[in-house]
Amino acid sequence: MAVDEDTVMGEAGFQARAANPHAANGTGQQTTYGHLNGASDPYLAPPLLSQPMQLDGTDGNQPQDITVTADKQRPSSPKSALKTTAPADSADPVSDDQDSLVDGYSETEEAKDVPGLPLASLPSGLCYDVQMRYHCEVRPTSDVHPEDPRRIYYIFKELCRAGLVDDAEATRPLVARPLKRINARNATEEEISLVHTAAHYAFVESTRHMSDEELIALEHTRDSIYFNSLTFASSLLSVGGAIETCLAVATRKVKNAIAVIRPPGHHAEHDKTMGFCLFNNVSVAARVCQQRLGSQCRKIMILDWDVHHGNGIQKAFYDDPNVLYISLHVYQNGSFYPGERDGDLDFCGEGAGVGKNVNIPWPSQGMGDGDYIYAFQQVVMPIAQEFDPDLVIIASGFDAAAGDTLGGCFVTPACYAHMTHMLMTLAQGKVAVCLEGGYNFRSISKSALAVTKTLMGNPPDRLTSTSPSESAVSTVRRVMSTQSAHWGCMFPKAIKTEGLWTDRLHDVIRAYQAKQLYDNFKLTSLYIYRTAISKSFENQVLASPNYNQDTPLIVIFHDPPEIMGLPHPVTNNLEAHNCWLADVMKDYVQWAVNKGYAVIDVNIPKHVTTEPSSSKFEDEDENRPTATEELAGYLWDNYIDPNEATEIFLVGIGNAFYGVANLLINRDTLYKRVNGVISFVAKDPVRAVASHTQTWLSRWYRDNSLVFVSHAHGLWKSERKATKRYGKLLQSPKEGLSEMLMHHKSEVFEWIEGRIEPDSEETEEEKPVRRSPTKAAPKAA
Ligand SMILES: [Zn+2]
Repeated sequence: MAVDEDTVMGEAGFQARAANPHAANGTGQQTTYGHLNGASDPYLAPPLLSQPMQLDGTDGNQPQDITVTADKQRPSSPKSALKTTAPADSADPVSDDQDSLVDGYSETEEAKDVPGLPLASLPSGLCYDVQMRYHCEVRPTSDVHPEDPRRIYYIFKELCRAGLVDDAEATRPLVARPLKRINARNATEEEISLVHTAAHYAFVESTRHMSDEELIALEHTRDSIYFNSLTFASSLLSVGGAIETCLAVATRKVKNAIAVIRPPGHHAEHDKTMGFCLFNNVSVAARVCQQRLGSQCRKIMILDWDVHHGNGIQKAFYDDPNVLYISLHVYQNGSFYPGERDGDLDFCGEGAGVGKNVNIPWPSQGMGDGDYIYAFQQVVMPIAQEFDPDLVIIASGFDAAAGDTLGGCFVTPACYAHMTHMLMTLAQGKVAVCLEGGYNFRSISKSALAVTKTLMGNPPDRLTSTSPSESAVSTVRRVMSTQSAHWGCMFPKAIKTEGLWTDRLHDVIRAYQAKQLYDNFKLTSLYIYRTAISKSFENQVLASPNYNQDTPLIVIFHDPPEIMGLPHPVTNNLEAHNCWLADVMKDYVQWAVNKGYAVIDVNIPKHVTTEPSSSKFEDEDENRPTATEELAGYLWDNYIDPNEATEIFLVGIGNAFYGVANLLINRDTLYKRVNGVISFVAKDPVRAVASHTQTWLSRWYRDNSLVFVSHAHGLWKSERKATKRYGKLLQSPKEGLSEMLMHHKSEVFEWIEGRIEPDSEETEEEKPVRRSPTKAAPKAA
């Protein structure tokens, strides 16, 4: 284990010492505050609690001798509270104003006797008990279980090495105000029964008398858990540690605290063990605080940043209006552990608890600092401030930390520190951190150290990455929309009135386009009779009357026109007068019709409307590329191949090009009839046109294509040179599809015209020089 220690622990102890000016006396002893500068410096005010805390196991079952101050009656709180707590020599003119709006503190009586900054002078607390390591596998195999007993030991050691704990193992000198130890004790059956059923308690208790064989057999009947004969004992201590930690924070015995406890708890449900969890530590602690402290601790916020959804906590308080549960977790469409739908963002609580459950479900692993900070700034903190808790408990799994392979995310210690820092602005700083998951020893130690230092007053380290990913923004914005129904601070408001809405705008726009294209160019719908296709593409394929005649034919596959809308900032309604269409395609159609060419205009909707009245947000259909290919094949077989077109040009814009590319690849002889392919790519991947059986296809494609790719596309950043299978690539100075279509219009028109055989009545001199390579070269050069 000594070897492991060295690999896990870093130079944190050195940093902490270096950062602590009070350690500079080099005596190796803990600095005594009074010796330095007296109490006139508020930062150096004597500690409030030099005597041992009365939170040990001997009277743990009894309500503590807690002074309940009426912080719920703030407007009428005694003004004297302010006078006694404000620094005597304060320069703040407001301090002496009897009519000040500034509230008095709500700390305990003993704190009121201390001059200076009594709350800031309180020590932070630490709960750790080596006996919680006794829960382990009966017969460990080489494949060590991730919920390893050493997890809490490594965190404790890291805190010791940083000089934060007054312990025999600690590096000296210690910081000026070391962590105050909070004794863990056994939780009582009565306390655990506030959350769990009697049967569940009896079940966990029964494991203490089982044989090893029975324990191993039991393991296989349950979801992700192991047992030994000391599991029950460790579990009681873990719950008791969480309770004592939360009570110590809520009653101001300490400023704030961290409980380095295991086994974890947030998956444990009222009647079952789950995901390494036996009893729900945090839920029991919250219930005990509410019960014992009454109005002093009525509203509790539980922030769960474990990478997994804390299903057990959510269920325990789902209808409780006084417990706000916010969880950030990887959801992965319900496939990430615990794999239930109830981790999704539309699970907001029920009954009186509606709105008091906030899930921020990441769509995938790989989330990092920018994503978590964004979620905190946009959702967590605004909702938390509106809720205004009396106590904040962090269900603190460190399995979203960089280095944790189970979680697969990249949250740095600095980010955990920043999140802690933000939460410390709530509940007058009453924050209790309780360990949950986290399986990489180094990651959890460094993360826990960063959180603890922040609790103790150290400013968080700088963040290196602060930009959220697009998927995080999308998730957070959808959470905001959902939660806007329950929280005054959440804007814009979600669309509520189901049934009021009739048509989705993309259908309205296509109908308008169809009318325009008919009125101006006599384009009409082509009948698509295959049922599966016609259902999806009704009204989407329009053709000029000459589409089957012996004239050049331009087939355009495009996305619906771009819409630019400025939503109303409060209601989120898109008002018609604040929306614009970018329909550059009509310029292309106009050019072709004026030239006398035939046109087939194919609109590929991003989502096929099935329930017109639904106001649900819809992603782009997953099967859109397949449907496009199917439609392209159908059009080719029925409307393009059999007709007499002299030249055929395929134009694919955006993702709609997918169908064109696959058509070229999958129809052996199709390319022989095609005189040119034009594609516009902004963000989608650049499609390759190549075939194993027809090796010349990619060469043909390069010689007969124009592929305009946005200058912002990742293709241009790649080191590798694109091969011919991607066609003749042209870097566009424009970024968006509409801009590119506009910018390259004349270039495209000239290129097509250059590849068209002039009509017979044209003179030889008028013939363009450029020719399609698939056609015979002109007789005269
Ligand atoms: Zn976890």
